[in-house]
Amino acid sequence: MMRYQRSSALFKEAEKVIPGGVNSPVRAFKAVGGTPIFVESAKGAYLYDADGNDFLDYINSWGPMILGHAYPPVVNAVIEKAKKGTSFGMPTEIETKIAELAIQMVPNIDKIRFVNSGTEACMSAVRLARGFTKKDKIIKFAGCYHGHSDSFLIQAGSGAITFGSPNSPGVTKGTAKDTLLATYNDLGNVEELLLANKNEIACIIIEPVAGNMGCIPPKTEFLEGLRHLCKAHNVLLIFDEVMTGFRLARGGAQELFKVQADIVCYGKVIGGGLPVGAFAAREEIMNFLAPIGPVYQAGTLSGNPLAMAAGFAMLTELNNNPSIFTSLKEKTAYLHKGLSEVLHKNQIIHTINRIGSMLSVHFFEDEVIDFDSAVKGNNETFKKFFHGMLNEGIYIAPSAFETWFITDALNYADLDKTIAACNRVAKSL
Ligand SMILES: *Cc1c(COP(=O)(O)O)cnc(C)c1O
Repeated sequence: MMRYQRSSALFKEAEKVIPGGVNSPVRAFKAVGGTPIFVESAKGAYLYDADGNDFLDYINSWGPMILGHAYPPVVNAVIEKAKKGTSFGMPTEIETKIAELAIQMVPNIDKIRFVNSGTEACMSAVRLARGFTKKDKIIKFAGCYHGHSDSFLIQAGSGAITFGSPNSPGVTKGTAKDTLLATYNDLGNVEELLLANKNEIACIIIEPVAGNMGCIPPKTEFLEGLRHLCKAHNVLLIFDEVMTGFRLARGGAQELFKVQADIVCYGKVIGGGLPVGAFAAREEIMNFLAPIGPVYQAGTLSGNPLAMAAGFAMLTELNNNPSIFTSLKEKTAYLHKGLSEVLHKNQIIHTINRIGSMLSVHFFEDEVIDFDSAVKGNNETFKKFFHGMLNEGIYIAPSAFETWFITDALNYADLDKTIAACNRVAKSL
């Protein structure tokens, strides 16, 4: 307890004035118990907390810090921009520069619009898809997260072919009825939904690699199959690449899997740690947006110069050093192998899913391919694992349904340290 004395005190103060003491629920440690750790600073692969403890960080702000914390080119870009004023609500050149760079890095997009979060990007992409197709319903996959806008806070209704129901108070039944839930990695299920709702579906939105029910890669040909189904049914395919964009490859999942989406959403890495989201598509679709098209979308701080400077610096680094993606993949594979060996040795039932620099340890004996298999993981084991790792100075996400984000700032000694910690923790599971 002494170890987190100051964090505990800060949390108590925060709880008085912020609901649950946090500005985003998963930070509160509700799924694992205990008191959240208050960060003082971070550098490279390390976090430093308010009590002077340090941790190797496997969350990295839930993805953005792909090159490590306080990465000098990004920090300097923000400082230099801030000196010139922080927001104007008027166009600035840096917006065009980051747009040009993003379009050059990613296959298959002509235009991009910047917003302030992944939530906004996905919400706006769906509105655009509805406006463009003049249809109302959308299909999403159970266990995929697309931010907290109403249309996405939906759970499966009764019967596979019926519409969804709200999974948060405040989301209306009216909204819920336009969102249909499909099973990840199950093309047959998607086709059933399309056939049962002929000419009513505007779009299918998907995380091309699911990362919000732990990491779940798509089965071979699943994304390609979705592409074909969408084409056949005149439905737009939206890739939510908020997590995978500029992480799995320069061009994200579209490049990695060689599947082209109609609209792509970005967030996290694209902002280099500042609040940025974006959505992009071919010209014909993007020109449907205000001020040249009928679909309204706006933002006082959208394209904010600090955010754009951070994002531009980050994308420039990734664009100039494509070997980063190979390096990340190799480090993640090394970590996977090491974790797997020590968990096996200690006879801990587990499945590790990995792709690129995303990884997750599911405490489940079978393969984890969708939401139903993800929730079968042993949450009691996860809680002990989380606190054990934390005690060893390894910070993983405080929920079994989150992905580990590997940063290039981790070196092999850090990975060995993590594997050795896992070995000690596994003995106590
Ligand atoms: C994080 C995330 C979002 C939401 O982004 P915010 O910036 O938190 O609003 C949307 N989709 C996916 C796939 C995400 O991982």
